[in-house]
Amino acid sequence: MTERMVVVGGDATGMSAASQARRRRSAGELDIVAFERGRYTSYSACGIPYWIAGDTTGPDQLTARTAAEHRARDIDVRLGTEVTELDPAAGRVRTRDADGREEWTGYDHLVIATGAVPVRPPVPGIDAPGVHGVQTLDDGEAVLLGLDRSEVRRAVVVGGGYIGVEMAEAMLRHGLDVTLVDRAEQPVSTLDPDMGRLVREALEGLGVRVVSGAAVREVLTGADGRVRAVVTEAGEFPADIVVLGLGVRPGTDLARAAGLPLGEHDGLLTDRSMRVRGTERIWAGGDCVEVLNLVSGTLQHIPLGTHANKHGRIIGTNIGGGYATFPGVVGTAVSKVCDVELARTGLKESQARAAGLDFVTAVIESTNRAGYYPDTARMTVKMLAERGTGRLLGVQIVGREGAAKRVDVAAVALTAGMTVGQMVDLDLGYAPPFSPVWDPVLVAARKAADTVAADIRNS
Ligand SMILES: Cc1cc2nc3c(=O)[nH]c(=O)nc-3n(C[C@H](O)[C@H](O)[C@H](O)COP(=O)(O)OP(=O)(O)OC[C@H]3O[C@@H](n4cnc5c(N)ncnc54)[C@H](O)[C@@H]3O)c2cc1C
Repeated sequence: MTERMVVVGGDATGMSAASQARRRRSAGELDIVAFERGRYTSYSACGIPYWIAGDTTGPDQLTARTAAEHRARDIDVRLGTEVTELDPAAGRVRTRDADGREEWTGYDHLVIATGAVPVRPPVPGIDAPGVHGVQTLDDGEAVLLGLDRSEVRRAVVVGGGYIGVEMAEAMLRHGLDVTLVDRAEQPVSTLDPDMGRLVREALEGLGVRVVSGAAVREVLTGADGRVRAVVTEAGEFPADIVVLGLGVRPGTDLARAAGLPLGEHDGLLTDRSMRVRGTERIWAGGDCVEVLNLVSGTLQHIPLGTHANKHGRIIGTNIGGGYATFPGVVGTAVSKVCDVELARTGLKESQARAAGLDFVTAVIESTNRAGYYPDTARMTVKMLAERGTGRLLGVQIVGREGAAKRVDVAAVALTAGMTVGQMVDLDLGYAPPFSPVWDPVLVAARKAADTVAADIRNS
């Protein structure tokens, strides 16, 4: 008998799951229906800041596989159709299409891939015209339309996370006067404040006014009803356009209403095969779930496309009759603002403390190429190692070209459970255009290993 797989959410997780299941099981064996409330499938939200900045042309380039392409592979994609209720007891979901028609669809396998919901501070004026989120391709289009208005000169970006700094760059590249307001001590709070300060200095060097420690209180509108200023704890900043980059929370309202298990961060809880805990035939992945941090051993909500695509593939493999598991993450993320690259993996200081770990830190200054090579630029690497054992706990890097992806070496070392002493011996590549003879990651590992050893000698 043909089974039915129902997917809620048609982006990274949902359509990876659908595609992988289809690769493994034919349409005769498995009927796949994917409900997506928006207009696109398999799109790259990650590309939105670069689309707005002018690096790509928009939905055509940012859509990896259209609904038509999925349908050609026997995946029944229903765009403009929202799932409004999950009924796990009866094994069905209720949907409402663009014309308001409601119906129930039964499933043998349900994939919850509803993503995340952007945070919007509940302050007066936040829904005014000219205030934009950047979660969907429709949001990207709206920002570009907003930027087309002739009177737009000043942008306020609210939130200094990686989306905030990427959007600050996009606004700069439209020639706007940019203010970035953030309630944290320094931008990019996934980094320690001393590394965030380097990002702040880089932003300021690019001409961005950075206002830290300033939560938003109100968005003021003009006589035309459009945004005219953002009021924060640190004062009022004129704005013709406002972009929100305040982070996201797991999109789990449907799951909660259905009584499915949620964790401390409101994300769905799954086992290693991405099956929702306590259920037989419900799977979940991507931005709506919590993931195990392999370094701290705690569950976290880390909404990234890297995990979402892996989760989808794992779910599709399992529904397709195979067996795959997701071990967890080490917390790797990279970003950039103009030519300044930033990267992190593992734990930052506050996370290591929260995990009850005792640690030492090493911060080094190096360069991305040999000192004599043209266009050599500074790179700062910060490394955390466990006191006593020397186990690598985390790495943060801020620098120019070649800085961000260096963090992948540290991600591998973390996954392998290496000590900083073992890292010093890693056989990393060298030639003058790519690094100094001692790669900056190795220099940091050496300093961290020396600190661990000195600490043992002195104790
Ligand atoms: C501006 C921006 C930049 C980013 N940059 C990066 C980056 O550089 N690197 C990185 O790793 N990650 C990045 N991300 C994060 C990445 O895009 C997400 O982690 C990834 O898209 C998550 O995939 P997902 O399938 O879990 O959720 P989503 O991509 O959010 O997809 C969920 C889908 O479900 C649909 N949906 C939700 N509820 C329902 C419902 N009830 N019925 C029907 N449909 C529903 C939504 O419309 C949506 O299309 C970025 C995100 C943004 C917004």
